[in-house]
Amino acid sequence: MSNEAIEKVHVLIIGSGPAGYTAAIYAARANMKPVLYQGIQPGGQLTITTEVENYPGYPDGIQGPEMMIEFEKQAVRMGADIRYGIASKVDFSKRPLRVEIDEEKWIEADSVIICTGASAKWLGLESEQRLNGFGVSACAVCDGFFFKGKEVAIVGAGDTAAEEALYLSKLCSTVHMVVRKDQMRASKVMQNRVLNAPNIKVYWNSVTDEVLGEHKVEAIRLHNTHTNTKQEIPVSGFFVAIGHEPNSGIFKEFIDMDETGYIKTIPGTTKTNIPGVFAAGDVQDKNYRQAVTAAGSGCMAALDSERYLTSEGLA
Ligand SMILES: Cc1cc2nc3c(=O)[nH]c(=O)nc-3n(C[C@H](O)[C@H](O)[C@H](O)COP(=O)(O)OP(=O)(O)OC[C@H]3O[C@@H](n4cnc5c(N)ncnc54)[C@H](O)[C@@H]3O)c2cc1C
Repeated sequence: MSNEAIEKVHVLIIGSGPAGYTAAIYAARANMKPVLYQGIQPGGQLTITTEVENYPGYPDGIQGPEMMIEFEKQAVRMGADIRYGIASKVDFSKRPLRVEIDEEKWIEADSVIICTGASAKWLGLESEQRLNGFGVSACAVCDGFFFKGKEVAIVGAGDTAAEEALYLSKLCSTVHMVVRKDQMRASKVMQNRVLNAPNIKVYWNSVTDEVLGEHKVEAIRLHNTHTNTKQEIPVSGFFVAIGHEPNSGIFKEFIDMDETGYIKTIPGTTKTNIPGVFAAGDVQDKNYRQAVTAAGSGCMAALDSERYLTSEGLA
């Protein structure tokens, strides 16, 4: 690695979802000259959804991809340097911090803000992908409202699935919960809540064969693996709640994470175990997972980074 190949930047932001762009806006306005790499999904998770109705400031709602273009424009207007590229490796063992881009060039940074988000896990059905955003969703809090008074289905058996089923049960007429085994993984308390909810119907030993509908979800076809029978259930919404995968693999060697790969931050801050490295958004949050909370923590990360640089005499 020759020295000529290394670009030096003040603050490097990895990821271009609500967390990354918000960090960029704050860092740029604090004259921290942030450089942001967008990664494989410029704009982040909201670029794969349609209507966003719960982000404050858009009283009529806004399409997810359009909203993220606005985030980007605002970051650019403030002076952030937004670039295509993927962080492929990091070396946080010494100062300055080092990040490799696209497996070809290294960048040195005084501070790094990790905003690489998380990816929802899907069943892998063609119909699930085709109808994503048209009745198929991985987020009950985000999309449940669109199915008020209607019948929906949810797949999953963990605590999150139970929580999301209960959330939907307060909005929807009936929630059909599809559970692969003859029991749930969710805690006893959550299971009891689900089983006692009058409008949640659990289908044990069942897998989703297909999501049915031409342009929007109209039904699902279930396969009961115990009785080897199939049945169709008419629903308007299909929620997949089988987990999320934080995009944190490249940081594993240096950054403390929980057993599922979520980055650990010091509570009330975005500080990681490495001074100068901060984490914001879904990559460090398995509880809320919302655009507004991601944006909020992106702001926190920029402020934490600014204070770090000042305290280290690097500002
Ligand atoms: C279908 C769907 C609908 C949703 N609807 C809503 C909604 O209506 N309202 C709401 O509030 N929330 C909604 N959410 C949740 C919301 O999208 C997330 O909470 C939010 O996007 C998280 O923001 P983030 O910035 O942490 O990360 P993400 O949006 O996940 O963005 C991560 C970014 O990191 C980049 N990245 C990853 N790895 C690398 C790397 N190695 N190098 C460089 N860049 C990298 C990606 O390219 C991406 O730009 C929805 C989510 C989904 C999946």
